[in-house]
Amino acid sequence: SMASPALLMRVVASAYSVAEKAATIVRNVMSAGDLGIVEKAGPNDLQTKADRLVQMSICASLARKFPKVTIIGEEELPTDDVTEDLIEDGHCEEILKKPCPAQYTGIKEEELVIWVDPLDGTKEYTEGLLDHVTVLIGIAYGGKAIAGVINQPYYNYEAGANAVLGRTIWGVLGMGAFGFQLTEAPAGKHIVVTTRSHSSALVNECITALNPDHVIRVGGAGNKVIQLIEGKASAYVFASPGCKKWDTCAPEAILHAVGGKLTDIRGNSFQYNKEVKHMNSAGVLATLRNYDYYASRIPNTVKESLVP
Ligand code: AMP
Ligand code: MG
Ligand code: MG
Repeated sequence: SMASPALLMRVVASAYSVAEKAATIVRNVMSAGDLGIVEKAGPNDLQTKADRLVQMSICASLARKFPKVTIIGEEELPTDDVTEDLIEDGHCEEILKKPCPAQYTGIKEEELVIWVDPLDGTKEYTEGLLDHVTVLIGIAYGGKAIAGVINQPYYNYEAGANAVLGRTIWGVLGMGAFGFQLTEAPAGKHIVVTTRSHSSALVNECITALNPDHVIRVGGAGNKVIQLIEGKASAYVFASPGCKKWDTCAPEAILHAVGGKLTDIRGNSFQYNKEVKHMNSAGVLATLRNYDYYASRIPNTVKESLVP
């Protein structure tokens, strides 16, 4: 008989279904109309009922199936009293059928760390910019982001009532990434994507120094990495602290799976072991291609202002 699938593939296959359930919750909370907005650090750091329910759903569902995996979610909430209706126990059969990259076949539960952003782009969610929103489940091993799932609950929401709403993108290092069409950004053009709701003088100084042809300001780290892999932007540049490990783990894994690169603004790679500090204090720089072009043009003054 067939050997049972490797743990990593079982985790990714479950994370896929868990992220689809999360997307349903995100859409249901919005259509019910009561977002239950709470300010965390301030008016630009929000939490809604959807952030809370999805965090409980993802963390409790994955913990039940993989009890020895470390799961770190953005929201500080209890996971012991999660109601059954929030639990997803399904998995994506298609993912389970794919062979696990050889270097990951021996991974044990206690060696994995899962970084969960239940709703990335909360500010935009509350403002009705619905396609900025993503659900992020990043999987790390040996301190490295090796696999990820990004669900975009409102993909296609402006394409009319007949369009299929929402999609799930997933990837594993050494395997590639799926659920979207990999597209190169326009050749010879420098299109920078950055924050829309967390700008600062330094964020703008850094972008100006790159002398881009165009700047796209949208919410969400997941959304911005989607812009890179779909050829809408050539670089994601964020010269500011504020992004956390759960913002970058899944997007980084997917971007790296298709040959891109995501680091802090000084060019240091991120670590995702469970002891690491959550804040990405030295910002974010990511590209699908031509990473060195952008990295070499980040001003030293900007690098020196952002300490890892
Ligand atoms: P943005 O590009 O502004 O959507 O930010 C990407 C992610 O980092 C989102 O999850 C934001 O909530 C988070 N983030 C970035 N800057 C800040 C900040 N100054 N305060 C709180 N969260 C931030
Ligand atoms: Mg986020
Ligand atoms: Mg979030």
